[in-house]
Amino acid sequence: MLGQMMLEPLLIGDLIDHAAQWHGQTEVVSVETDGSKFRTSWGQIGLNARRLGAALQALGLGPSDRCATIAWNNRRHLEIYFGTSSAGFVLHTINPRLFPEQIEHVVADAQDRVLFFDATFLPLVAGLRDRLPSVRHFVLMGPASPEASAALPGLLFYDDLIAGAAPLTAWPMLNETTAAGLCYTSGTTGMPKGVLYSHRSTVLHSYAACMPDVMGFSALDTVLPVVPMFHVNAWGAPYAAAMVGARLVLPGPRLDGDTLIDLIRDEGVTAALGVPTIWRGLLEAATKRGLDMGRLNRTVIGGSACPPAMIAAFREKFGVQVIHAWGMTEMSPLGTANHLLARHKSLPEADQNKLRESQGRPAFGMQLRVVDESGVPLPNDGTAQGALQVRGHWVLSDYFNTAPGSTLSDGWFPTGDIASLNSEGFLLLRDRAKDVIKSGGEWISSVELENIALGHPDLADAAVIGVPHPKWDERPVLVAVAAPGKSPNPSDLLAFYKGKVANWQVPDAVVFTDVLPRNATGKVLKNRLRETYGATLAG
Ligand code: AMP
Repeated sequence: MLGQMMLEPLLIGDLIDHAAQWHGQTEVVSVETDGSKFRTSWGQIGLNARRLGAALQALGLGPSDRCATIAWNNRRHLEIYFGTSSAGFVLHTINPRLFPEQIEHVVADAQDRVLFFDATFLPLVAGLRDRLPSVRHFVLMGPASPEASAALPGLLFYDDLIAGAAPLTAWPMLNETTAAGLCYTSGTTGMPKGVLYSHRSTVLHSYAACMPDVMGFSALDTVLPVVPMFHVNAWGAPYAAAMVGARLVLPGPRLDGDTLIDLIRDEGVTAALGVPTIWRGLLEAATKRGLDMGRLNRTVIGGSACPPAMIAAFREKFGVQVIHAWGMTEMSPLGTANHLLARHKSLPEADQNKLRESQGRPAFGMQLRVVDESGVPLPNDGTAQGALQVRGHWVLSDYFNTAPGSTLSDGWFPTGDIASLNSEGFLLLRDRAKDVIKSGGEWISSVELENIALGHPDLADAAVIGVPHPKWDERPVLVAVAAPGKSPNPSDLLAFYKGKVANWQVPDAVVFTDVLPRNATGKVLKNRLRETYGATLAG
């Protein structure tokens, strides 16, 4: 048809070019591996990304060759994010908390050609080197160091690599469906699986992330992604920040509450992103030291359910809005974010708070449905619960390196989560399908029971698991971690459930442990807990 619009491909190179050109002076603050602060700018990040693109071409890399990173959130990592993808290579961020054999597996599966890593991980990488035959170049993210060269002969140094390269004058013209990034799932059961993002999916995800009802980034923000850049691209924050020219604070390796509260206050952070465990430390540190949270006005919390007590603490003690969000590696990751609707603002405060507890609602571009066991869609009535399925511009169609069609049923991706949806799109996540507790034919939500337990002042952490029971098949057991200096007694903890859930949903027993086992992305390993405590209710 004549007289139509331009068809411009959606490319990551355009994100960094936009940030570098129009927000070139805007600061990027990077906490380095040694704890020092380094101040750079979007202009400099863009320039170094172009240098890196040229350097990678000079190393002989071909289109879509994979470049892996094992790194903290810092400026060099940001340059690698943009320099690799924009130049037509694929950024593969590796979670350093994977077991060494899982790292070996993901590098082999991805066929990584280059491996960039922070100094912290030199011993890990040197130990693995002989088991990573696809990698042709190991690059330490820092200046040259004779000791590092001795530990890993042939090592390249990032600072030398980019200093010696003339910046590309333009990024190669790519098709928007070209692969841009590769992340692996955390592999709670079995080996991690790869999810390959395209330029198009990443740019569309960034648009969605910046929408006011999602993360609402703008050029007025100072964004602190505490969620690691090795975990689903820090939820897309680096790309979204570039899209709007937000000031970025990259926190480096130390993520304890005291360090974070200082960083948030000193750098005037307005929006932060992270998992609940991280924010527990922050709340404790701020409370203990009697500090406010400076300019922080919102935190995006997801990855696992954010306990209502945490949402209330941020809001009531610190005036910080919690945006409870849900997503998955397979979804780039943003699926839903909790923002109330206009009509909710006239509800009593307690009702509004209740609404804030859910995982929120989808932005345009993300479709959700819940289905029953035979795949029939259930009503969006807020109570019917079933298997959650999604489809959209930034949802995978198949795992990397797997046969087509292994993932989708009927064009929808089965998330493995059990949830309900209401008529306004608010998602209430009840459980992972494999963690749901089936008691006498009824389902009990472990997430709901955990959220209640985490509101008890004497508990620092809690998980609820289904344990075999002679009469009811399974019954819930609370696995509790006492807060420092507290020794709560089991009957008080169980009494705490009274009036909050139906009596038959109250756990049958409490067991105490010092620390909950977690996987590489911080999720509680409930299969391990079931193995350990499986006999709690026997006989
Ligand atoms: P990952 O791919 O490692 O990010 O894990 C995705 C899974 O984490 C989801 O399928 C959920 O089971 C869980 N998850 C993520 N966000 C939330 C949330 N806000 N509440 C409850 N579970 C969550």
